[in-house]
Amino acid sequence: MKPFLNITATLLVLRGTLLLHADAAQTEWKAGLATVTITPETPVPMAGYASRTKPFESVAQQIYAKALALEDQQGHRAVLVTTDLIGIARAVAEPVCERIQEKTKLARSQILLSSSHTHSAPTLRLEEHADAGMTPEDARNIAAYTRGLQDKLVEVATQALSRLEPAQLSWGSGVADFAMNRREFTTRGVILGVNPRGLVDRTVPVMRVDSADSKLRAVLFGYACHNTTLTQTNFSLSGDYAGFAQAYIQEQHPEAQAMFMIGCGGDANPYPRGTMKYAREHGATLGQEVCRILDGAQRPVSGPLTCVLDQASLPLQPFSRSDLEKMATDGPSWQAGNAKAMLAKLDQGAKAASTYDCPVAVWQFGTNLTLVALSGEVVVDYVPLLEQAIGPLQLWIAAYCNDVFGYFPSARVLKEGGYECRGLYTTEGFFAPGAQDVLVAKVRDLARRAGRKLAD
Ligand SMILES: [Zn+2]
Repeated sequence: MKPFLNITATLLVLRGTLLLHADAAQTEWKAGLATVTITPETPVPMAGYASRTKPFESVAQQIYAKALALEDQQGHRAVLVTTDLIGIARAVAEPVCERIQEKTKLARSQILLSSSHTHSAPTLRLEEHADAGMTPEDARNIAAYTRGLQDKLVEVATQALSRLEPAQLSWGSGVADFAMNRREFTTRGVILGVNPRGLVDRTVPVMRVDSADSKLRAVLFGYACHNTTLTQTNFSLSGDYAGFAQAYIQEQHPEAQAMFMIGCGGDANPYPRGTMKYAREHGATLGQEVCRILDGAQRPVSGPLTCVLDQASLPLQPFSRSDLEKMATDGPSWQAGNAKAMLAKLDQGAKAASTYDCPVAVWQFGTNLTLVALSGEVVVDYVPLLEQAIGPLQLWIAAYCNDVFGYFPSARVLKEGGYECRGLYTTEGFFAPGAQDVLVAKVRDLARRAGRKLAD
């Protein structure tokens, strides 16, 4: 019995130390929060599955944009906006960031726009362009929704920044098991399927924001998996598993704002998938794990907060016209679409781009935590690649931030082929294998500039 008592006493002391540490840090931060509903008032076509062109028919769950504003003791501020959306492309994101900058005097590096990649939310586009199967009215509704969304993103960010109150930050991480590598090897090449032996990142990073009197005010959590439990047969709006996880956490902690930020899940799907029941179950699984982490001891997060952002100039593959013609007619479906778009561009007299400038951000929290915010649909290989480049500890890797332009494959994935090699979809082009090293080097450079301690 005695050893048991000793262990209990040790745990109590440990927990007490961590909490004392958190109390001591209570003047370290100010935090401000805001939430806005972004559920469309008129049905618009849903995003993510090309074969599904009709507007949504019902609302299973409201969708939201949520903002967390932070200020450290030196007055460095930043704002993170998370959304239940497919992905915010540069054309939509940058005017929003410019307006936030004008209103708040923040630098661009201090603003992070993140999307959960739910495939059960509206299509986003500023041009009134109707895809095949879409009516002109649908196209108008998409553009009107997107313009209204931009206003709401500016509003939610500025609101959070106007509500800064003393706060303390801490973080921890857990694990959830429903992410499945989806690159299935077959005799026909790599298909979108199920690959139980493939790599996935099962980490559930959790940051908690408490008031000065230790009341939970917000929870930021992540998971590296496509928000695609629901498939092209679904016409009901929701945040998919990430939306249901946020709702679960807010039910358990009604006073707190739950925010989701997706990781390197470009080649992971939920497993199993295909029904609303599974979406709710995965949401509950993730929500329960976040609540379990919240119930335990967290590591304090201190300032200062240093935010840096830069563009990585990622090389694209050069192709001759005859290469592209062959890819457009004989290539796999993931290749043909982009090849056709590149040919159309050449026909207009345009030159094919040789690089794509992709935003990369790093937010360094004192010596406690580095948040790497990648853009695009980043495959899981970048988790070990970045761990090797900047060290595996005190690291939170997010993707789908600032500009969702297409998939970002690794050199390995490009060699193997498959859907994640389809390249850019907001413009034309396929990434070259050398893009991997350019991105990793840019993250390392930014991490150093932000003050993360790096091994040589
Ligand atoms: Zn995707």
